[in-house]
Amino acid sequence: MKAAVFMLTLKNMSDILNSLPDPTFILTKTGRYVDVFGGKDLRYYHDASHLIGLSVNDVLSTEKAAWFIGKINEALKTKELLITEYSLSNKDVKGLDNNGPSNAIYFEGRIQSLNFSVEDEPAVLWQATNITKRHQLAEKLRTISETDPLTGVWNRRYFYKMIDKEKRRARRNDLPISLLMLDIDHFKSINDQWGHKVGDLILSEVVAVTLNCIRESDMVIRWGGEEFLIFMLDTGLDAAYYVAEKLRLKIEHHTFSSGVEVSVSIGYAQWNNVSENIEETITNADTALYLAKNEGRNCVKGYHND
Ligand code: GH3
Ligand code: MG
Ligand code: MG
Repeated sequence: MKAAVFMLTLKNMSDILNSLPDPTFILTKTGRYVDVFGGKDLRYYHDASHLIGLSVNDVLSTEKAAWFIGKINEALKTKELLITEYSLSNKDVKGLDNNGPSNAIYFEGRIQSLNFSVEDEPAVLWQATNITKRHQLAEKLRTISETDPLTGVWNRRYFYKMIDKEKRRARRNDLPISLLMLDIDHFKSINDQWGHKVGDLILSEVVAVTLNCIRESDMVIRWGGEEFLIFMLDTGLDAAYYVAEKLRLKIEHHTFSSGVEVSVSIGYAQWNNVSENIEETITNADTALYLAKNEGRNCVKGYHND
């Protein structure tokens, strides 16, 4: 039997393009929307046909429009499929309220240069896929993998991920780095006497007091059970001592919700930016912490190289 030959008409082609779930734009080099096809997945997209005839400069903020035109030109230059991710929120779209809640929508854009001109301009095909759910899931996974679920502060994995970048920044700007190693005193007895739940609450409250006591650029990392590392950029030994002592006093005088009195011991050390591996600085801060514990706890000790 002879197979039927199906000949696509121009009308069929246009219907097919308009049936595409993702919106697909024809954009010129200067950012004009010449045409839009598809966008039939109404879970994610509104009709975008009103854009035809407008320019990205008419609908997007100056910064976002410049980014779009930059990407169009990149795709035109390489002639290869350019895949990029971007977000659009109220502040990026002209005519929308800048102050309202701005739930950004995330897109994957796939941009391909076309081998013909449109209205005397080179042009690209730009297909936008709403990836907000995927993006949110990725963010959630990142948070889970980099933070401590009980206290919300960073975990070791994050520390090791960011430390090289921070060291480079410190070297470039000739800034000192100091580390504090903080450990709650007699925490085992607190747990034994008051229960694990109270212990958990105390951990969270110690973190809250700590975050209140340090700069926004400092980082708190849950290093172990009741042990926290505090990373401080642009902080030498004197400043590290000052922060550690302030923090120790704040915790000593804090009224914990359980009524339990809590104290901490803190060791501090400065990273030697010429020769030292950060592991050595951690060991040094640990050594100083050990001294503080030996001195009777609820005190601060520094590690001095000299
Ligand atoms: P020191 O003053 O020498 O630091 O004594 P310590 O009792 O604080 O130290 P030790 O290392 O003997 O005990 C730490 C305790 O911390 C034991 C462990 O059960 C408890 N701990 C670790 N993680 C958690 C947690 O997430 N929640 C609670 N409630 N307790 C924890
Ligand atoms: Mg302890
Ligand atoms: Mg400990």
